[in-house]
Amino acid sequence: KQSQVQAKTYTIGTDVTFPPFVYANSHNKYVGIDMELIRTIAKTEGFKIKIKPVGFNAAVQGVSSGQFDGIISGMTITKEREKTFQFSTPYYESGIVMAVAPKSNIKSLKDLKGKRVAVKTGTQGATYANSLKKKYGFKTVTFDDSDNMYNDVKTGNSAACFDDSAVLNYGVRTGLGLKIVTKPADIGKYGFAVKRGHNQKLMKMFNAGLAKLKKNGKYEQIIKKYTGQSA
Ligand code: GLN
Repeated sequence: KQSQVQAKTYTIGTDVTFPPFVYANSHNKYVGIDMELIRTIAKTEGFKIKIKPVGFNAAVQGVSSGQFDGIISGMTITKEREKTFQFSTPYYESGIVMAVAPKSNIKSLKDLKGKRVAVKTGTQGATYANSLKKKYGFKTVTFDDSDNMYNDVKTGNSAACFDDSAVLNYGVRTGLGLKIVTKPADIGKYGFAVKRGHNQKLMKMFNAGLAKLKKNGKYEQIIKKYTGQSA
């Protein structure tokens, strides 16, 4: 017979093409800042998680429909999203940059006239690109994950893509094969999210756990491990 109360298991949606926040390592294990944070927090606060690697937009939709309990996916805290989601204390900061193929001569938004630009469905990068496309005269094409978006730029189908600086900076350092040509715009903070009004206990535990990790140096250690830089 069971003698202890079993720890509750929460389903967490994520996007596994988003290094250094979430990605699959060479053993096909999901690693990165977000994965280490949520796993360590689950351990310290006494809950279990089941990672659902469905992609960013599907994870966002899955939490808003109640299919998943939470999302951790380098998700930017925005006023618009706060209507549907409740965010944790922020754990990182990033802006949006434009990246092009290494030999491209595109240097700024002005050079995008008449061109095709790759974005990822449901992201702030896509929102940003869509807000500028009329003014600068470019078209956008959407992809469900970052790898396919980057490939469209590398193969020359798209002239550029827009993605988070924290992710593209890491990509440039680790041989992604794209170059960044703009300064970070629309800087925002990343948070873990649940559907507004739901999973309040989970949110409380996440925030309590994150505060502990910030205090005991583990947070700093995780950030350093994946970015090579201090938090
Ligand atoms: N930070 C971006 C957003 O929230 C992108 C997240 C992602 O692609 N995983 O829209």
